[in-house]
Amino acid sequence: MPEKVNNYENTNRLFDQAADALNLDAEMRLLLKTPFREIQVEVPVRMDDGDLEVFLGYRVQHNGARGPTKGGLRFHPEVDLDEVRSLASLMTWKTALVNIPFGGAKGGITCDPGAMSQAELERLTRKFTSRMGFAFGLHRDIPAPDVNTTPQVMAWIVDQYGTRYGHTPGIVTGKPLELGGSPGRLEATGRGVAQITELAGTDLGIPLKGARVVVQGFGNVGSFAALFLHQRGARIVGLSDVRGALWNAAGFDLPAVFDAAKAGGGLRSPGAREISNEELLEQECDILIPAALGGVITRKNAPRLKARMIVEAANSPITTSADAILNERGVPIVPDILANAGGVTVSYVEWAQNIQAFAWEEAQVNEQLSRTMARAYAEVAARVRERGVSLRLAAFMLAIERVAKAERLRGGL
Ligand code: NAD
Repeated sequence: MPEKVNNYENTNRLFDQAADALNLDAEMRLLLKTPFREIQVEVPVRMDDGDLEVFLGYRVQHNGARGPTKGGLRFHPEVDLDEVRSLASLMTWKTALVNIPFGGAKGGITCDPGAMSQAELERLTRKFTSRMGFAFGLHRDIPAPDVNTTPQVMAWIVDQYGTRYGHTPGIVTGKPLELGGSPGRLEATGRGVAQITELAGTDLGIPLKGARVVVQGFGNVGSFAALFLHQRGARIVGLSDVRGALWNAAGFDLPAVFDAAKAGGGLRSPGAREISNEELLEQECDILIPAALGGVITRKNAPRLKARMIVEAANSPITTSADAILNERGVPIVPDILANAGGVTVSYVEWAQNIQAFAWEEAQVNEQLSRTMARAYAEVAARVRERGVSLRLAAFMLAIERVAKAERLRGGL
């Protein structure tokens, strides 16, 4: 039977494991598991052929105890309230783990952007912003890019939001530079993934130099993660996107593959062997980096994976039952809330620049990113050593402690 994935339940199972390890009281558990606010809107769009389609859009603001809620906006056919809720909760733990003054949120629209024109996507984004904008705010809730949403989508949001509330570049992050985006934001998630992979690999006896790395997904996160890992000396042997996967045991000429994909040619590399996305995950390698969608490592393929360590560049790529199987097999997993936190870290820097109306240099942004990620990794690694728990449990424990402390300090229960 295929594994039925209930995303929010999965996330809450991770939460419960950490809450048990922290002896968190029942009231605090209930408070931290319950989303603060959930909004669903209809998004009617006139399509290019003249027909009207009504899409559903969501925003879940999970917890704002530590600051305005923050999280991406996803355009995908499988978006639903359960997925958005789960991703919003992960954002609460991620922002707390890297210790930036935000809570967690996520949004999405159930749609197939691959089958829509740019004009249709623009109308969809603008209508969603008109209907959902009341819930956003510079000190309330700040969206960002996620799957299939780009700096251009963020630009439309800034423009549409501004027609009602006045020009407010900090209302979203991940904007184009010309509209107040931050240098380094586009690359930030992948850059952070590469840094954390190197730090964790070194501790786990899998040094990056020469390590055979497989990256699933070649979008914003996967492409930059692969590029920076290549620059740090790793050998990228497997790559994929939604259309399929490529294998090159000698290692890809990553800059060439990257440039070709960015020029619109898709994922291609002369001489590479074509395999399926399922096969890709099960190839022999040192480090496997799922960087596409959630739920790709399940109880079905987990027993067959041959990677020596897994780095979750995507959010929730491993189901709870697969997580248990991999833990049992002793395969270390660097959890999403640590591995991919570079994006929200630089989003924080972008938001801070917007509020101050003062632009940073890219080197300064990258330095801040590197320091934040290194500190978060060191804190997680210390907790692993102290408590003998997995990286995931340690990360969740640190994050939950911080949010619970903020809730207690605020009082008001
Ligand atoms: P994206 O839309 O830029 O790229 C997604 C990539 O996944 C594309 O290459 C697509 O072809 C590929 N893909 C889709 N379905 C696939 C499949 N079935 N098999 C293989 N590849 C497939 O999205 P992104 O921003 O790179 O996000 C990827 C993941 O990283 C998501 O889980 C997202 O939540 C997470 N994430 C993104 C950011 C960010 O800053 N963009 C930050 C943190 C986490």
